[in-house]
Amino acid sequence: MADLTPQERTVLDWLAAQRPAMLALLEALVNIDSGSHDKPGVDAVGARLRDVLESHGIVHDVIPDDRFGDALRASVGSGPNTTILLMGHRDTVFPQGEASRRPFRIEGERAYGPGVADMKPGLVMNAFVLAAFAKFGGAPAPLVGLFTGDEEIGSPFSRPLIEAEARRARAVFNAEPGRPSGAVVTARKGGVFMRLAITGKAAHSGANFAQGISAIEELARKIVALHALTDIARGITVNVGIVRGGQTVNTVAPSAQAEVDLRFLTRADRDVTMARIQSIVDTSYVPGTGAKLDIFGEFLPLTETPDGERLYRHYAGCAEALGVKIPAEFTGGCADSGFAAGAGAPTLCATGPVGGKAHTPEEYLELDSIVPRAQALALAILRLGQG
Ligand SMILES: [Zn+2]
Repeated sequence: MADLTPQERTVLDWLAAQRPAMLALLEALVNIDSGSHDKPGVDAVGARLRDVLESHGIVHDVIPDDRFGDALRASVGSGPNTTILLMGHRDTVFPQGEASRRPFRIEGERAYGPGVADMKPGLVMNAFVLAAFAKFGGAPAPLVGLFTGDEEIGSPFSRPLIEAEARRARAVFNAEPGRPSGAVVTARKGGVFMRLAITGKAAHSGANFAQGISAIEELARKIVALHALTDIARGITVNVGIVRGGQTVNTVAPSAQAEVDLRFLTRADRDVTMARIQSIVDTSYVPGTGAKLDIFGEFLPLTETPDGERLYRHYAGCAEALGVKIPAEFTGGCADSGFAAGAGAPTLCATGPVGGKAHTPEEYLELDSIVPRAQALALAILRLGQG
């Protein structure tokens, strides 16, 4: 930590001293259930964050939604300049009751609990970094903090807000959890989540078999065709993750449904593969069946760009000045960073504290990564003005 200016040192020392406050806020947030469809819970997490922002004198507004969690937008500094955007999502993948079944707990160097990595510590970190700049100044551009509530289901409400904020940002830091290796993420796949509904015709499978039209057989044939679109080398995968259908064992199935997940690296691959999926949907392998496809969630890929690469090198250089090596990784998982990058902003993802096993009961957070990640982000912001 040799080459820090007095101002940099002040900001970083203050963040280090906030570790107990950050942990207390993290514990409070983890212990609030906030599944994507649990609007009261997601908003309760927002209310807790608003208390923290308010206590540090940070102006913020709430962009309400009646289905999903309201979006919370905080700002430090203002002006016509381009902004620096800090993003994070308050929703988790866990059902109601999860937080009381396995509340926040610390064991050794790690913390556990629902959302303890993905991504409540990222919210905590962003809130405290905003607080540091509200307290000491020094940001080379207005800071915007966006705390959204519907990322795990594809941000149906927040996507346009993210895109609008990203369009006026010179840099976007998305505080998804740092990878177990400690890496940040510079590239992510895009994804499309779809529901496929097949209709056939019911008939008694013993007495009138020939009068039936099996929706299940149709679905089975479609699944084989859909999975055959996978091209691992190209980064395209099609996964049918859920199937349902039929009425009774002795009835030719009148209906069947599936949920399908497409992942891709480029928008061109998305469009070509979606056209192929649609043509499989439109083909009746079993004559007389019908099929309908609905998209219920979509993420854009985080594509590597020269601007994004420069932002990563800047961030990694700042971390290195603090004695931390932060590599870059690619992941097939989707996140809101794809929307920010798609809007043209240099975007870095997984700047949050380091954790793993997201979306499982074994999800964990490396406690000793909280302060270094907050400091790396703060220093990267402080030094963004230097060209
Ligand atoms: Zn996440």
